Amino acid sequence: MAQVWKGGPAAAALNAKTTEKVGALMARGIRPTLAILRVGERADDISYENGACRRAETLGIAVLKFTLPQTASQKELEETIYMVNDDPRIHGVLLLRPLPPQMEEERIVSLLAPEKDVDGITDGSLCGVFTGKATGFAPCTAQACMEVLDYYKADCAGKRAVVVGRSLVVGRPAAMLLLQKNATVTLCHTRTEELAARMREGDIVIAAAGRRGLFGAESFREGQIVLDVGIHFDEEGRMCGDVRTAEVSETVKAITPVPGGIGAVTTAVLMSHVAEAAGRAAKM
Ligand code: NAD
Repeated sequence: MAQVWKGGPAAAALNAKTTEKVGALMARGIRPTLAILRVGERADDISYENGACRRAETLGIAVLKFTLPQTASQKELEETIYMVNDDPRIHGVLLLRPLPPQMEEERIVSLLAPEKDVDGITDGSLCGVFTGKATGFAPCTAQACMEVLDYYKADCAGKRAVVVGRSLVVGRPAAMLLLQKNATVTLCHTRTEELAARMREGDIVIAAAGRRGLFGAESFREGQIVLDVGIHFDEEGRMCGDVRTAEVSETVKAITPVPGGIGAVTTAVLMSHVAEAAGRAAKM
């Protein structure tokens, strides 16, 4: 029977490190601060914002909220970005997306200072992921996968890792982070031939195709570590992932659950990035 690698304990371990970092910064008079930028009143944005605020509060991180109306112009949001970039009190910025249709998202993102990009959405952050240099921050979900591997002491060096999904939010940065851990990485996508065979080759498999229950018994073999990044809801409204877990839980070595797996670590990563950003700013 597969071990269930829950995200909660990995998140708790990371939160403990963040609390320590925040405490050390506070002792020097620095309060790590996250700015949350929201345009409009989308229910899922508000829910994410509220969750982030609660988590920040428990870790001693301050939050400043900047909310613009759904009808706000590109210029208004650009001015808000310039303001948070220039405000020395603010160490990290979370821009809730997607933005309304009148806004050019790519341009807005390009204006954000990479050193404050704790969500890993700017080219500067992705550059850091690819070069291994501390420019910006890795996208939180990709980093959450690494936190889970670290917490459960998965040795990646020399192992075959297969990532399914090549988005800039999850798949591609996850592949680069695995490479930094000295795994031998295969990055699969919609055009990959014999996908199930490629997946069975992996010692570590990250399923991030964003398709509910796409992967079952045919894609896995004994001994594998499977991280299921997908977040979906079935007809009964239950949350589920990209993997048909019931089919593989007798076979693989370990699997992250949905819910309660990678998703449970993502906000903890975001907060750790805010503390790290504050620490880097203090050194400059
Ligand atoms: P996306 O749709 O942007 O990218 C999906 C990728 O998977 C694409 O690169 C595509 O090429 C590939 N893909 C799609 N169908 C495929 C198929 N049949 N075979 C092979 N490859 C296929 O999605 P995303 O933003 O990368 O998110 C992926 C999943 O992760 C989604 O389910 C999303 O909800 C979830 N997600 C979870 C968290 C979290 O905190 N756990 C955060 C972000 C996203």
